[in-house]
Amino acid sequence: EAVINRIAAGEIIHRPANALKEMIENCLDAGATSIQITVKDGGLKLLQIQDNGQGIHKDDMSMVCERFATSKLKHFEDLQQIATYGFRGEALASISHVAHVTITTKQESSPCAWRACYSDGKLKPPKPGMSADPKPCAGNKGTQIVVEDLFYNVTTRRKALKSASEEYNRILDVVHKYAIHNSKTSFTCKKQGANTADVHTASAARTLDNIRYVYGAAIAKELLEVQHDDDRYEFKLEGYVSNANFNTKKMAFLLFINHRSVDSANLKRAIEAVYTEYLPRGTHPFVYLSVEIKPQNVDVNVHPTKREVHFLYEDKIIENICGALQQRLADANQ
Ligand code: ADP
Ligand code: MG
Repeated sequence: EAVINRIAAGEIIHRPANALKEMIENCLDAGATSIQITVKDGGLKLLQIQDNGQGIHKDDMSMVCERFATSKLKHFEDLQQIATYGFRGEALASISHVAHVTITTKQESSPCAWRACYSDGKLKPPKPGMSADPKPCAGNKGTQIVVEDLFYNVTTRRKALKSASEEYNRILDVVHKYAIHNSKTSFTCKKQGANTADVHTASAARTLDNIRYVYGAAIAKELLEVQHDDDRYEFKLEGYVSNANFNTKKMAFLLFINHRSVDSANLKRAIEAVYTEYLPRGTHPFVYLSVEIKPQNVDVNVHPTKREVHFLYEDKIIENICGALQQRLADANQ
């Protein structure tokens, strides 16, 4: 059974950046306004994430790493109205099957923090012979999750990974995206032992400030704000798009649908087509779009690793997004 769980876990958590994305979404679900990340060896040795969110109740600590344990889905009907990122209860369970997990957490009303270690979905004693029960300790409100030795028991997965520095770049990519989109929340990300952080965004910032911070002032100056409310297909679009070359290799495309970082090859292709009219051949734009669609119209049941998203009226919605973009570019280039 352990082997089957490990294989299943490998299908959800492909690499350190996937694990981090899931954990960042959990912090945001917990209402965190500060998220601090520490990484060693591209996340393979250590992936640590500290938030100031609502924390986990002591009584729930024994089950947070169990498969399908979620505090976010109370009724089946809720599936239609998912407002949080998580709802499957699979992420922490999967991570605990392929790494050593330690959680320290404190809820506002609790007099102290509690710490527990996990392995294969269950509480595990921190040292042989000790009790596996959560232990009281000092700590601030919020949750710290420490993931050590990711894929220590899945040699094939470890071998399939790129170098630590490449994995770290993928981690930074995830942090940048979430930092830009969640501008009210401060993010830091650093390598363990480093004096300075590689990402350090302020809380209560604006999206544009964070884009400037991540991609540089030059690109931020060229950005056009896009906004569109679509009554017919009931979606809302907000974003910043470049009116000049951003990259000569590929488009920077940051897409959030209902606040989830996702991919849509169809939308990407359509946007590239719009830009052929405005950018010289061989140059590519920066595009950050946040689309809010009625939850009922989005396919939330996509496989966790398949970030490709599909939604109802997809062709029409893509057409209207591109229409809004086209209009904005036309106005700016008159
Ligand atoms: P899901 O997010 O789908 O519910 P996860 O496996 O990601 O499943 O997390 C399991 C549960 O652990 C969550 O439902 C939540 O109750 C708890 N949890 C995980 N991370 C945090 C966190 N940072 N703060 C508070 N609770 C958390
Ligand atoms: Mg989750």
